[in-house]
Amino acid sequence: MTTINKNYLKLQGNYLFAEVARRVRAYKEENPKANVISLGIGDVTRPLAPAVIEALHKAVDEMADAATFRGYGPEQGYAFLREAIVNTIYKPRKAEVAADEIFVSDGAKSDCGNLQEIFGTDNTIAITDPVYPVYLDTNVMAGRTGFFDEATGMFDKVVYMPCTAENDFLPQIPQKHVDIIYLCCPNNPTGTTLSRVQLKAWVDYAKKEKAIILYDAAYAYYITEEDVPHTIFEIEGARDVAIEFRSFSKTAGFTGMRCGYTVVPKTVFGMTPDGTKKSLNEMWNRRHTTKFNGTAYIIQRAAEAVLTEKGQQQIKETIAYYMNNAKVIRQGLSDMGMKYYGGVNAPYIWLRTPEGMSSWEFFDKLLHEADIVGTPGSGFGPSGEGYFRLTAFGDAKATVEAVERMKTRLKL
Ligand code: PLP
Repeated sequence: MTTINKNYLKLQGNYLFAEVARRVRAYKEENPKANVISLGIGDVTRPLAPAVIEALHKAVDEMADAATFRGYGPEQGYAFLREAIVNTIYKPRKAEVAADEIFVSDGAKSDCGNLQEIFGTDNTIAITDPVYPVYLDTNVMAGRTGFFDEATGMFDKVVYMPCTAENDFLPQIPQKHVDIIYLCCPNNPTGTTLSRVQLKAWVDYAKKEKAIILYDAAYAYYITEEDVPHTIFEIEGARDVAIEFRSFSKTAGFTGMRCGYTVVPKTVFGMTPDGTKKSLNEMWNRRHTTKFNGTAYIIQRAAEAVLTEKGQQQIKETIAYYMNNAKVIRQGLSDMGMKYYGGVNAPYIWLRTPEGMSSWEFFDKLLHEADIVGTPGSGFGPSGEGYFRLTAFGDAKATVEAVERMKTRLKL
């Protein structure tokens, strides 16, 4: 019989959202009149910006005309989009990125998951905990884990960097050597960030250790504080050690459209078995052109529209709408005397569960007493236990109502 990739057997079941859905379903069956509000969704809810809709219509019309119809495009993305990214995202921040260092894709999830393929399975990886689960799972699938230590519940080649209130959610530089470092900034789920000085320390560490930083900036547009870098390429020396993932999903409501990109500078290298340097830009180009046939033309035109002056203004209005929800939630939690983090540079609010409850205990309490759904922090990694994620992606009125219910109905 055909054998399977046995690394898949090492994956830990990710039951988080399935279990959330199961408990909500059961609750609704028992309480059919309950008006359940979800502050658990990690998906956008506002419609696309008018500039994007206009660009989509225009691109569709082009596809209907033999003179302007397009088939396969460049796998790396059309020049019009790659150049718009340089001019709108990187140049204003004085971050040196060239168009041929940008690889357009169908979203950051694919890129975060696929990029590890160009690295050897003998590398050690460092991952912040809690974090977006894709980084760990895709390395496990590839077999970049070493042995599983039953005593610690950890893989030998994976270094977890706990981020909790005790260390201000700052990943600590590992004591031992690591080869690949995943940083998610602003972080999903904690909503916390690194300052310029803190990120510079990571760049310096990567340089010293000859390591690579994989920097996920999917929520960069939510940053409001001055001292928080919007791209790792604002940091001196990052071009020698970092690769950056970006997404139009939360930036411009593209979760159902699918467009993201990865920046692989031509100055970042890995090493061959005989010790020679190998360009990671060349390697990712090889991988991308072999396994990917490009993002849809109409979607790239829509993404280009996001990067116009009009598009930028419109998406910023939608982000401000979500961030106002974040403010409403933060204010409510403050009024209740609850401890929380995030919600200033990210659409996520990360709260400490009250009275030492587990993440799931608080989930049940919130659902049963206030008809509100959130996400248990333990689903994002072991250090998420005792925390809970609320999101700002909901409807404004429903968010106000949810906060009111938390204040009046939760028995604390
Ligand atoms: N990176 C982080 C940190 C995310 O939270 C998400 C989506 O939730 C993604 C990447 C995936 O983005 P995309 O929709 O572009 O695949």
